[in-house]
Amino acid sequence: MTKKTIEDITALAKRRGFIYPSSEIYGGFVGIYDYGPYGVELANNIKAAWWKAMVQMEDNIVGLDSSIFTRPEVWVASGHVGGFSDPMVECKECNTRSRADHLIEEAGGFADEKMTPEEINKVFDEYRKKIKCPNCGKQNFAEVKNFNLLTKSNLGNFNDDWSKDPTYLRGETCQGIYINYKNVLDTTRVKVPFGIAQIGKAFRNEIAPRQYIFRKREFEQMEMQMFVTPENEMSIYETWREKRMQYYLDLGFKKENLKWHEHENLVFYAKAAWDIEYNFPFGFKELEGVHARGDYDLTQHMKHSGAKLTYKEEGGEEFTPHIVETSVGVDRTFLAAMTEFYDKDELGGEERTVLRFPYRLAPVKAAVFPLLKNKPELVKKAREVYDMLKGEIRTEFDDSGNIGKRYRRQDEIGTPYCVTIDFDTLEDGMVTVRERDSGEQKRVAIEELSAAVSK
Ligand code: ATP
Repeated sequence: MTKKTIEDITALAKRRGFIYPSSEIYGGFVGIYDYGPYGVELANNIKAAWWKAMVQMEDNIVGLDSSIFTRPEVWVASGHVGGFSDPMVECKECNTRSRADHLIEEAGGFADEKMTPEEINKVFDEYRKKIKCPNCGKQNFAEVKNFNLLTKSNLGNFNDDWSKDPTYLRGETCQGIYINYKNVLDTTRVKVPFGIAQIGKAFRNEIAPRQYIFRKREFEQMEMQMFVTPENEMSIYETWREKRMQYYLDLGFKKENLKWHEHENLVFYAKAAWDIEYNFPFGFKELEGVHARGDYDLTQHMKHSGAKLTYKEEGGEEFTPHIVETSVGVDRTFLAAMTEFYDKDELGGEERTVLRFPYRLAPVKAAVFPLLKNKPELVKKAREVYDMLKGEIRTEFDDSGNIGKRYRRQDEIGTPYCVTIDFDTLEDGMVTVRERDSGEQKRVAIEELSAAVSK
């Protein structure tokens, strides 16, 4: 098909109940979205695929579910309170705030959040003539300032001036992993090198949330932190780079829609940082980060908490484990999957929109239809088949509209199989199974149906 646009995807996602703007009846809430009935199924399937690859299939990775709230010191130790900021620039004409580094990039320059305000203002000045406000198009900007992205809260603080002594909603899930590293070590049988995997919400006061669910203020991360020896750090890092790229290929993403991007400007402690970029409708952008972080994280937490987080095996030397991290957003994977599998084609002379999800991502695996809704014996049989399947796989029952319409509805949400019960079924116990991508139909015995559609 011709190029997939973000408008195609947002329209389908809204129309078919994948994604809703949050608080829509109040006019929406910038940077926040809700997942609807099919969206939550897709998101759950994305998380299950990640968990299977990262925990179930790995011998030395265990799971964790740490809280969104931690002691505020965690975010001081991690560097977020002092330095987790993005460069922000305000338009003096319409007061729209934008990411200065993004505006510079769009004008052909380079800047990132690791630069000092002085450095970034200097680059901004160089490109000022080429930079326009994305909202009003004018070129009258204030000075670039750093804006801290941590979201503050008054949890546990009952004073009026709580904002001077706030708690934070986590800005990333991995800090919860670092502060539980010792617990996991002491209560399980893991040995370095081992990993801890976690899926959970993270919050960032993004200055300019844009590009739909690509950049949200409340989002979900899937992170794995592997604790390794300094000697093995780079070889383990390379292994994970390979594994993470292969993971997307195994999910069914095309190779040409994925590429590696090396960070131009490494933070001082990092050994290596590469991102997997996906070809979103607005171009190649970060989907996942794979980083070799040295011993920075545990060293910082040792310094700030006083706890001993070193590692020693019997007869071995004591050391601070280094970290290899893989970090990806559920929401970015969701948008990548919607983009990758969105298609339009013609089937039986009719145009259709189809989400060609692989089986394990599909929100609904099978739909069951009685051929005619006004024939009680067909409806009854179809209900029986539906009841049989729904205990095993996510199944829908649909008897509204003609069969063609029901097929179109299921194609649009990516259901791999549609099962129709007709008059012959009542005689021979066979149903028609129609496959989504080819439209091919096969007669299958009801007893074999479950196996036939749960491939
Ligand atoms: P970006 O440069 O796009 O802001 P980042 O480098 O700050 O991303 P990380 O801190 O490395 O992102 O977070 C790891 C992953 O979490 C990202 O690769 C992305 O998939 C996801 N992520 C980060 N920020 C957001 C967000 N605001 N909305 C949705 N997902 C996000």
